Amino acid sequence: MSGNLTTVAYIAATILFILSLGGLSNPESSRRGNLYGMIGMTIAVLATILGPRVSAGGIAWIAAALVVGGALGLYLARTVQMTQMPELVAFMHSLVGLVAVVVGYASDIDPTAGAGMSPAEIGIHHVEVYLGVLIGAVTLSGSVIAFGKLSGRISGKPLLLPARHWLNLALLLLVIGLGHAFLGAPSIDRGMTPLIAMTVLALLFGVHMVMAIGGADMPVVVSMLNSYSGWAAAATGFMLSNDLLIVTGALVGSSGAILSYIMCRAMNRHFISVIAGGFGGGGAAPAKAAGSAQPAGEVVAVSAQETADLLKDAASVIIVPGYGMAVAQAQHTVYEITKYLREKGKNVRFAIHPVAGRMPGHMNVLLAEAKVPYDIVLEMDEINADFPGTAVAMVIGANDIVNPSAQDDPTSPIAGMPVLEVWKAQTTIVMKRSMASGYAGVDNPLFYKENNRMLFGDAKKMLDDVLTALKS
Ligand code: NDP
Repeated sequence: MSGNLTTVAYIAATILFILSLGGLSNPESSRRGNLYGMIGMTIAVLATILGPRVSAGGIAWIAAALVVGGALGLYLARTVQMTQMPELVAFMHSLVGLVAVVVGYASDIDPTAGAGMSPAEIGIHHVEVYLGVLIGAVTLSGSVIAFGKLSGRISGKPLLLPARHWLNLALLLLVIGLGHAFLGAPSIDRGMTPLIAMTVLALLFGVHMVMAIGGADMPVVVSMLNSYSGWAAAATGFMLSNDLLIVTGALVGSSGAILSYIMCRAMNRHFISVIAGGFGGGGAAPAKAAGSAQPAGEVVAVSAQETADLLKDAASVIIVPGYGMAVAQAQHTVYEITKYLREKGKNVRFAIHPVAGRMPGHMNVLLAEAKVPYDIVLEMDEINADFPGTAVAMVIGANDIVNPSAQDDPTSPIAGMPVLEVWKAQTTIVMKRSMASGYAGVDNPLFYKENNRMLFGDAKKMLDDVLTALKS
């Protein structure tokens, strides 16, 4: 394939990636968006393999790598549970970081890399290598820690080292100093020591940055690392002089940054204070470990039959899904109940909190999978004012996103986070297995409110029972 044809293919792939991002911004067009992305990626990979920069001997290696990588990807996609998706995404971000580091080292030691370049161009190439390895190493270790926190292998509590901001500043100054030494090194060998030292520091910085971030801020961390992985890919594109990789990386980097901003706004947090860490600890009351919520009054438990009776009498119902619905895989039964109630002339709608579940859009994906019509799925801002006029608010496996202490208790670790005001409905029904707390580890006073009822049990099983009771 000639260089010109490769360029045309790259432009086509870029357009498809932009269309893909546009499609993914709305649940209705997201399937189309995914399709554009897949076609764009196929064109990009084929144009690169068949392009002028890959020799005939190289194609065999790439084909072998594609088979191994493709098989692994297929296996993971088929076996991963929906609830493990956020961990998988964090893990994949770490791979992008690793690639940026490895490519950085490879292009630093590649003897042909500087061939035909002017001294100024060689200088720029070294800056690209240094920045690529730096961003890649931070993304790599930060994503590994995020993977640990999301999968529960590492505690969600923020690790707050003494004078941590000074420590970060010292690391930054050291990285700048090492960069100076790397760029001024007379040979590849002499430049290797500052490059390795910077890599170690960047890895430590990534660990420290994500360890300092409290459980309540994890949604922002997930989208922030998504953004970093994009910049790491763009840096790799610069090192390899691959325009498509630069553009694609920039698209991922900037869309991840916009998503981080949206998540910050949804949680009423400033981006800088998220990065600085400590939310969920620090000045606020320390978050309790999951499962340690202390009872603060009486709770009223109801049966599936009583829940069905409440729903039968209600003219309007708002369903609030959360992480527990994903764990129980209850979305299909939720839709069966919704269909039944709508057929009986009731106004049934869904309220989606921006950080419900464990990844952005988690609930939207599950509801779309169950074929819930998009027009009854509303964002928090669109529906929050409707709870006072609603007969029943049904909370399915959600906890932090309906916690009134975010509004009432300034010492709460989640103080200031906007929440769905379900307690303003005539009756609230909370479906969960126990009195355990949610991801942020905070007790929830909603459970003890006079108009609240608890339906204890696995969400799928309880909803099956409610559906049977409704139909009987
Ligand atoms: P929470 O984690 O606050 O609560 C989920 C609740 O579901 C738990 O209290 C649990 O209670 C219950 N549950 C678990 N399994 C089941 C089951 N099988 N059946 C019934 N209930 C079950 O989830 P929310 O969605 O309310 O809030 C999301 C939290 O996750 C927020 O703190 C957010 O910051 C954080 N987060 C969000 C991310 C995102 O991008 N959306 C990323 C990372 C973190 P019990 O054990 O008693 O059943």
